[in-house]
Amino acid sequence: MYKIVEKDAMGNKNVHRGFSDSNFFAAQTSNPRIAALSVDTCKDYRDHKTHHNVHNCTHYSQRYTWAIPLEIIYLTPLYEWNPHNFRHTTSVGVLDPHGVVQKVAASGTHIILPNIEGVGKVRTRYPIMPVHADGEQSRKELDALKEMVMNMAKYSSLFEVEPTTVSNANTQYNQQPHMLKVTPTTQDPPGYHGHDLMITQADIEDMKKGQTVRGILTTTDQQHQHSIDIHMDAHGQYVMAACDGLPRCWDGHDTHLTLDF
Ligand SMILES: [Zn+2]
Repeated sequence: MYKIVEKDAMGNKNVHRGFSDSNFFAAQTSNPRIAALSVDTCKDYRDHKTHHNVHNCTHYSQRYTWAIPLEIIYLTPLYEWNPHNFRHTTSVGVLDPHGVVQKVAASGTHIILPNIEGVGKVRTRYPIMPVHADGEQSRKELDALKEMVMNMAKYSSLFEVEPTTVSNANTQYNQQPHMLKVTPTTQDPPGYHGHDLMITQADIEDMKKGQTVRGILTTTDQQHQHSIDIHMDAHGQYVMAACDGLPRCWDGHDTHLTLDF
């Protein structure tokens, strides 16, 4: 909206050019590619000299272009600051229209300036245009999530699961314990017994890739334990590849193991 001191040709002092956006700039133009807004104002009156009725119309046609500020860009003398007269070393050769190689380098205004010792990284560009999603519930959720992600320590209590790095998450996952059970044997000696043995998720992942996990010690039952090599068969079942260095355990345990958890 703009105001003028004297009434314009239309008798208006206040003119609305946009709906509720005060940061709205308009410029009049004569460019015929811009659609015009036109109006005819007509007056009927009697000419006192000629005594004729006169129908007098005036045609108004105006063209406007509009500008909405999109970004604040802070310019700084730093862009020109080069006390040692360094030359760009990251330039690349590009052919000009005449087929001659010209050295060029990336240019433009940084969003964030390179780190300045004692100052840090300074941001020099900020988008300011309103986003069409402003005020929408999904936008509020996104902004809240952004706030949490950008400052995890401050908002740690809001996370359902404590945030961790992918590498930590992988480590934790791979360290998860699992228990395999050795099928009980009725052979006597040594008498009815089974064994348990602990492996990790990493062992399971290795076995899924076809590897054999070697030398896992079982619990001690009936005064002995076994050292077992395990692999996974084609059906995803855990099978002893060796027991105490032999194809089967000396006391007759079945080679199939069951995953307890
Ligand atoms: Zn045994």
